[in-house]
Amino acid sequence: MKNGLEKSANTNKFAVLPSVDALLQAAKIRAAAQKIGSAKTTQIIREILEEIRENLRSAQDDFSFASKEKIFQNALERFAEKTQMLSSKDLQKVINATGVIIHTNLGRAPLSADAQKAFLETAARCCNLEYDLTNGKRGRRGAFCEELLAELTGAEAALIVNNCAAATFFILAALANGGECVVSRGELVEIGGDFRVPDVMAQAGAKMREVGTTNRTKPQDFANACGEQTKMFVRIHPSNFRVVGFTKMPSLKELAELAREKNVILFEDAGSGALIDLSAYNLDEPVISQSIADGADIVSFSGDKLLGGVQCGIIVGRGELIEKLRKHPLYRALRVDKTIYAALGATLQSYRRDAHFDEIPVLQMISETAKNLCRRSENLVENARHNGTSFDLEIVEGKSAIGGGSAPLTRLPSFLIAVSHSDKTPNDIEKDLRENVPPIIARIEENRLLIDLRTVAAAEEIYLTEFLTKQRR
Ligand SMILES: *Cc1c(COP(=O)(O)O)cnc(C)c1O
Repeated sequence: MKNGLEKSANTNKFAVLPSVDALLQAAKIRAAAQKIGSAKTTQIIREILEEIRENLRSAQDDFSFASKEKIFQNALERFAEKTQMLSSKDLQKVINATGVIIHTNLGRAPLSADAQKAFLETAARCCNLEYDLTNGKRGRRGAFCEELLAELTGAEAALIVNNCAAATFFILAALANGGECVVSRGELVEIGGDFRVPDVMAQAGAKMREVGTTNRTKPQDFANACGEQTKMFVRIHPSNFRVVGFTKMPSLKELAELAREKNVILFEDAGSGALIDLSAYNLDEPVISQSIADGADIVSFSGDKLLGGVQCGIIVGRGELIEKLRKHPLYRALRVDKTIYAALGATLQSYRRDAHFDEIPVLQMISETAKNLCRRSENLVENARHNGTSFDLEIVEGKSAIGGGSAPLTRLPSFLIAVSHSDKTPNDIEKDLRENVPPIIARIEENRLLIDLRTVAAAEEIYLTEFLTKQRR
């Protein structure tokens, strides 16, 4: 009897499979097709039918006896899972609750309100990018941002390219190609993402002349290495790396004097760099205007690190060198688009107005006090409890970080919300947060899930409160 039943189920086993058309008619699938298009929808359906056919072929019990309806429901569930996987890959807004201010994986600096507005209102359609409105003729691309940068750094001129890696490569390729660059062994670093100083020099066609040792290099080492072929002294900010203890590096001023004497260019890759002095917040990053004042001929830095703007590489320095770069054929390949100029220009305007700490999110986050973070955390916890939460929430002391390869040793004192739940592990909560809409990215430390409001905008706190109160047990 049992054998007979199995046999009959086996002979018809593919009859339970729905047709592609029948699935395309299902309301949920029709809704998805509106979003992802019918070609992609049909492709996913075919994949699902193939998977079910495979399950039926291997005749797993629950499939061989499954009804048509059950198989149909199962196909719908698989469809929902697959489209959810697909949409998790969409570029989407996330809430950075990690306390890492310049989080490269989360897009680095959040834009100021003015920069967002400029992005959308000034640049999204047409703008006077290379058009002079006073005479109706062609104008210089980026002139506005370049002049602001020169003003804010005290440099003679500025130029903007795609990112700081591009800027460094460009400077070496345009100004040191075929010659020698002298660099301290203590600065032959990897910045991350396979951006290694020796490789970049080789790619740029410059011969690297290493001097000194990992921990100590003297001005005399630079002087001794100077020869006929020397075109440049290079100083690279070590970014995410620090040598501590018995160390010595020539000051930029000392190098500048020597560079003058030897008639070579002094280039500093400041990496993050800062437009203003942030030492009050325990940050030891070079201030660009100081590098210029100390005598660097050309300096490169990122637009989306401590500056708090968009991804771009900023080059400031002597007018004659900047003009060489502007006329170099590589510039055409490295230049940025109108949205970058618009958002960067708006960000720089905040510095000019002396409103940077009020308006630029990266600087707001750096300067926010632990006391204020404690108050915000208390309010959020109180709010969640008031609205009914099944989580246990506790406020604990902790630290936030700068990130983005800047100031690796700096930690800012903060207050964090430790989130726990009787039925969930910290990893479960981390996953639930990550799968929230919008996703909330938190960190786990010492087996505790922690939320750091330093990197959460006040307007984003609502998503956290919603998450903490919507979870039903
Ligand atoms: C971050 C960094 C770079 C790369 O900057 P991007 O803008 O990310 O390309 C280059 N040099 C230094 C020293 C850096 O810190």
